Amino acid sequence: MENNFEEKKTSAKPTLLNTQVIIIGAGPAGAGTSIFLTKAGIPHIVIEKEIFPRDKICGDACSGKTVFVLRKANSEWPDEIFKNTAEYMPSHGVTFVSPNGKVLNIPFSPAKILKGQAPGFITPRLTFDNFLFQKLASPYAAIYQKATVKSMERQADGKVKVNFSHTDETYEVIAPLIIGADGDKSQVRKSFLSSHTSPKAYCVGLRAYYQGVTGLHENHFIELHFLPEVLPGYFWIFPLPNGITNVGIGMMSERIRRKKINLREEMLNAIKTNPNISHRFSNAKLLDKIQGWGLPMCMKRQPLSGDNFLLTGDAAGMIDPFTGEGIGNAMYSGMLAAFAIDELLKAGKYDAPFIKEKYDDVLFKQIGNELKTSATLQRLSHYPWLFNFVVEKAHKSKTLNNTITSMFTGIDLRKQLRNPSFYTRILFNR
Ligand SMILES: Cc1cc2nc3c(=O)[nH]c(=O)nc-3n(C[C@H](O)[C@H](O)[C@H](O)COP(=O)(O)OP(=O)(O)OC[C@H]3O[C@@H](n4cnc5c(N)ncnc54)[C@H](O)[C@@H]3O)c2cc1C
Repeated sequence: MENNFEEKKTSAKPTLLNTQVIIIGAGPAGAGTSIFLTKAGIPHIVIEKEIFPRDKICGDACSGKTVFVLRKANSEWPDEIFKNTAEYMPSHGVTFVSPNGKVLNIPFSPAKILKGQAPGFITPRLTFDNFLFQKLASPYAAIYQKATVKSMERQADGKVKVNFSHTDETYEVIAPLIIGADGDKSQVRKSFLSSHTSPKAYCVGLRAYYQGVTGLHENHFIELHFLPEVLPGYFWIFPLPNGITNVGIGMMSERIRRKKINLREEMLNAIKTNPNISHRFSNAKLLDKIQGWGLPMCMKRQPLSGDNFLLTGDAAGMIDPFTGEGIGNAMYSGMLAAFAIDELLKAGKYDAPFIKEKYDDVLFKQIGNELKTSATLQRLSHYPWLFNFVVEKAHKSKTLNNTITSMFTGIDLRKQLRNPSFYTRILFNR
């Protein structure tokens, strides 16, 4: 296959590149977009400021949605991951600890498990993002790592122009479409989305790696501890291979500000004094610094695109507001962005209403209801007594139990949520 890029070099001026799509960022959202563009044979350029493997502060838990997108990209990739037990920890369930300390173990339903594999896995982002990044190489993708974007703008002809530097060269790339996959502090969002100043629903999270935490579930359940002092939010313990755990805490930024909470102190305090947690850390060793980063959550539908641009993953604020899952939604939105781009290029139309119809509307049709449910559960978790009640219900109601399972394993909660009998079944503990 031939390379579809045109490269024209002059000595003083930047090297000119022409392509169909410019992707900024090569995390799960950018990688998801690039992988599916390659499958469709669409030439594109990926511009990434770091060099892979690179770390990303995260809980490192990849849900069923991540596995779903991986499988759709290439049916062999999940096998590759699950075979590599030295780096990837398969997870078979979730443990909820309600604010009153009640423990609820929910094994992921075997019906969801494909080929005997676990529905999800946990691995450091250093490993997973590099796995994805290694899959990008293709005759359709030109990849620039350690590149610095100098400017991005929409030209009078509607096309997008990006100037960037890479090694000692400067480049100018022009394309009809730009994809913001540049994470939480997205430059694409700031440059192109006029409503970027509208307040995003934010959570702040801290992550630490510990060796030697005890009392982990034998089937590597992820643990979410809904401590009263961090609601709405939770403390987590996620098992990784080699006796390491990813331990962290997340909480809504607005509440942190309003209550002047020191999140790091809350985290260390839980490790020191919480009766469900402290004894398990008595011989545990902190392996690295405790580090923090923002989680832009999807509490309500917001615009994700406009003339000549689409936003994906954290740049689009796609994190699930209850589970905190962002990797799966980043990859899923990247995949749907690639599907939409295929249609836009075929139609030769890049105006905001057409992109909205092909991307935003499709994405929210697919995962809008599940995000709405999560937003409701998140609001509900403001009230410890109500949250205790739900966990109590989940003990008894198979339907609610299955719903929680689906949140972590499946992507199709929509059918259940549209069915009125779903709600009566929960009400009557069925
Ligand atoms: C503390 C914490 C815990 C979390 N835990 C989980 C979890 O357990 N499970 C889960 O599913 N999600 C979790 N998340 C959310 C998850 O980390 C994000 O949703 C996910 O990383 C989003 O992927 P992304 O590709 O959109 O962005 P990112 O992963 O942030 O990738 C963006 C990429 O763009 C690059 N970039 C940024 N700016 C530029 C630029 N100007 N030019 C070029 N490149 C640029 C960055 O270097 C990066 O490689 C957590 C988040 C936090 C903060």
